Formats: sequence, structure tokens, C-alpha cells
Amino acid sequence: MENISRRNLIKLSGTAALGLTAFSLAAKESQIPAKKLKIVVVGAHPDDPETACGGTMSLLASEGHEVVAAYLTRGEAGINGKTYDEAAQIRTNEALGACKILNATAKFIGQIDGNCEITASRYTEMYNFLKAEQPDFVFTHWPIDQHRDHRICSILVYDAWLDLKKSFGLYYFEVESGGQTQNFPPTNFVDITSVIEKKHAACYCHVSQNMERVYREFHEHMEIFRGMQANCKYAEAFVKHDQSSLRIV
Ligand SMILES: [Zn+2]
Repeated sequence: MENISRRNLIKLSGTAALGLTAFSLAAKESQIPAKKLKIVVVGAHPDDPETACGGTMSLLASEGHEVVAAYLTRGEAGINGKTYDEAAQIRTNEALGACKILNATAKFIGQIDGNCEITASRYTEMYNFLKAEQPDFVFTHWPIDQHRDHRICSILVYDAWLDLKKSFGLYYFEVESGGQTQNFPPTNFVDITSVIEKKHAACYCHVSQNMERVYREFHEHMEIFRGMQANCKYAEAFVKHDQSSLRIV
């Protein structure tokens, strides 16, 4: 039953052969899986899940799936002039506001912004987190990224995916491509045109990060460019791990 549901999710796209799987088009193609799926988006900082795939999160939530935004840190180092505790409080509240707009649940894993670690205990921590979540799909950072926390987040998730016997589909997202994410070759695009305003509203909850300005500088160009590639107005792009399909399709 579970496998059938997963297969349906991936089959949503009639353009899969072109590498343009738009699984958010489920409703249109009447292939909404009977089972509610669980999608966990693991980002290093508050604002990473929202800016990278807030449109996809919103679409999946609107189709009845459960969406979790999991933040590796609370962005402790992200506000000049604030202590780590103060910044964490502010940025946690911003993340909660963004998740409310996207109909996602925010969860916090407990590492510290700018000091993320890869240790045996951190591997176990991520493994235990994802094991408890029991996701059908996980989205996380692409491992080639100029931000160390992003790289660490990606590697921790990948290691958990291996240890959990590749039990969920693994997708990578991009953040500020060129400046942060590098060498990102998309395999899948999601048309987010219908939810673009909702995505922007969620991202703009991150006031402490000057997100409206940052958005115009980076993210807006990305969603327009990915839209051009996917033949729609706005899109988000992903890299699907090839071995996800061996389990799911
Ligand atoms: Zn980040």
C-alpha cells in the first residue's frame, strides 16, 4: 500500500522522461495518493527551507500531505548586535510565522549556527530525528555549497538516508545558487506560479535577514530562471538522488 502511494506521487508528471517531474501537479492529474505522505525539508537555518522550496512545500501541504520544516539550527549567529539566545528567539519566531503561512510544522534539531558539527553523535542525532519522523520524502541542501553549515546539513541527512536503508526519497534543493549552492544540475522542476505570493509572504517573515531585499537580489532571479527552464513563470529546481527512484518507482 505504501509503495503504491509512493509510486503514484512520482508518476504525477507526464514529463518525467524529460526530467521535469512536477509532482505537485497531482491534483490536476487525479493521482493524489490515498495515503497522506510526509515530507521533511531539512535546512541549516531558519529561511533555508522556505527560500529553497517554500512553493513546493505549500503545494504539497495544499494537496493534503504533511510537511515538516526541520531546522538544524535556530540561526543563532545571524543577527548582528544580538546574543545567540536573542537571535535564536527572534529567528525561531520568524520560522514559526513562515511555517504557518506554508501550512508546515517547524521542528528544531539543536545544532548552533556557524558551528555545526559532523561527529558520531551528530550523525546519530540526525538518524534518530529522521527515523522518528518516518518521512516519505526528504529535501535538503546540495552538498557543494559555500556555507559550511549547509554542507554539514547535507552530509548528515545523506548519512541518515544510507543508514535508514534509503527508505525515503531524497531530493536536494538549491539556495542562492552561485553564491552558496554551486554546480547544481536540476533533475526536477516544480511549477510554483500558483503559490508564488504565499511563498514570498513566508520568506518575508524573516525580517531579521532583510529578506525582502535579499529576495530581490538572489531568490527572485532563481525562481524566474528555473521557470524559464521549466516553461512556466516561476519554478523551484531539485536534484533527485538516482537511488531514490530504485526504492520509490
Ligand atoms: Zn542557510
